[in-house]
Amino acid sequence: MTTTAENRPVILYIEDDPASQVLVRRALEFAGYRVYAASTGLSGIDLARTCRPGLILMDINLPDLSGREVTTRLRAMAGFENIPIVALTAQSQAGEHEKAVAAGLTGYLTKPIDVDTLPGQVEAYLTSKRDEVEPAALAKAQIAYSQEVVERLEAKIRELETAYNNLQRLDKMKASFIQLTAHELRTPLTLIYGYGRLLHDSPIVARMMVESQEFHTLITMMLQAIDRMSAAINEILLISRVAAGRVELVISPLNIAAIMQKVVDDYRAAIQERALTVRVEVEHAPEKLHADRDLLALTLSSLLSNAIKYTPDGGAITLRAAENAEEALITVQDTGIGIDKSDQLLVFEAFYTASDTQLHSTSKTAFRGGGLGLGLAICAEIVKAHDGKIWVDSPGRDEDKLPGSVFTVSIPIRGRLAAALRRPGVTR
Ligand code: ADP
Repeated sequence: MTTTAENRPVILYIEDDPASQVLVRRALEFAGYRVYAASTGLSGIDLARTCRPGLILMDINLPDLSGREVTTRLRAMAGFENIPIVALTAQSQAGEHEKAVAAGLTGYLTKPIDVDTLPGQVEAYLTSKRDEVEPAALAKAQIAYSQEVVERLEAKIRELETAYNNLQRLDKMKASFIQLTAHELRTPLTLIYGYGRLLHDSPIVARMMVESQEFHTLITMMLQAIDRMSAAINEILLISRVAAGRVELVISPLNIAAIMQKVVDDYRAAIQERALTVRVEVEHAPEKLHADRDLLALTLSSLLSNAIKYTPDGGAITLRAAENAEEALITVQDTGIGIDKSDQLLVFEAFYTASDTQLHSTSKTAFRGGGLGLGLAICAEIVKAHDGKIWVDSPGRDEDKLPGSVFTVSIPIRGRLAAALRRPGVTR
């Protein structure tokens, strides 16, 4: 039988020391084997799945899992129950060989690596060689190995707990930093806003604005910039309040058609300027919809503002409302650029933007005008406070084909919402 490159036995060597890797690769390739190498236990397990080795050489002291643990894991995988896995290690203390066999290793070779004898040893294990250890020593090694694994597991869980607590502490610090900064910015901004308005309304300025186009533009742009800044700061303060459950819901029966129409009217100028067609379709108005009017209007406003932002001029946007036995369903559908499947959950996270932030114009109505990535996070918190759900359906993002997106808000109808709000521990 001729040996082609494809049918030469594959040896996987799991070893973090590059010098040993080079040595073993040279010796075994010279003897006609194909050699794959991995530097950590986890990458070794992954590589084993794809390269399907005939034999694995295993270092014991690896940076993540130990060679024994990697072997135990491999033995539980289909196709790896019986293949030879041979330790190649510097550990030669008493009991190590038995512990390796207890973990599922077939053989035990100790370093230094002898390039002349290694191919023959590999050949022997590939053929049929299996190390035998004395049964009493094996039983003792099995107990020692189980204890070692449980101890490592305990240490890892403790490590993870500490890391988790640290992350939570950092997350809290981040949240209060954002909130404090927003508060600090809001105080002077309120003054700037007030003085700006006073300036705008003063008769002298009003006259100058009429007389000079340049002056008119300057004052208008300044006031618009102040508006944008206060909107951004208010968004930050609102998200920290809703996320911390510090928003009181004022629940009342709602006329959703009227709210939808009002929200659309708020964007009338932009809709005309961008030549968009916006329709409100409420065939069977949800009669039992009870929710917080202002917060639901804010949610619809964010969804409509996004639909406007991510739909090119001339597109169509439809707001619909319907009801079934369980819930009121409100949807905002656009013919815009769409959202990748991988982003469809992430867009509801605070400060996540699927678009390139470099391109942001910060306008709420310009095509692709971005924001802080807070709009949908606020919607999600508001909907959550109503015990409802929010999600997006879109075939994906495509700026040429414009597949569009449909955002749906589902709010449980009155009886269910009341029950949810009465649940112990729910403070709203
Ligand atoms: P932003 O204020 O930055 O628009 P949002 O939280 O409202 O933040 O939205 C998060 C991201 O979701 C946006 O950056 C955008 O990439 C994407 N997105 C939201 N709505 C739409 C939509 N209707 N069509 C396409 N992408 C959208």
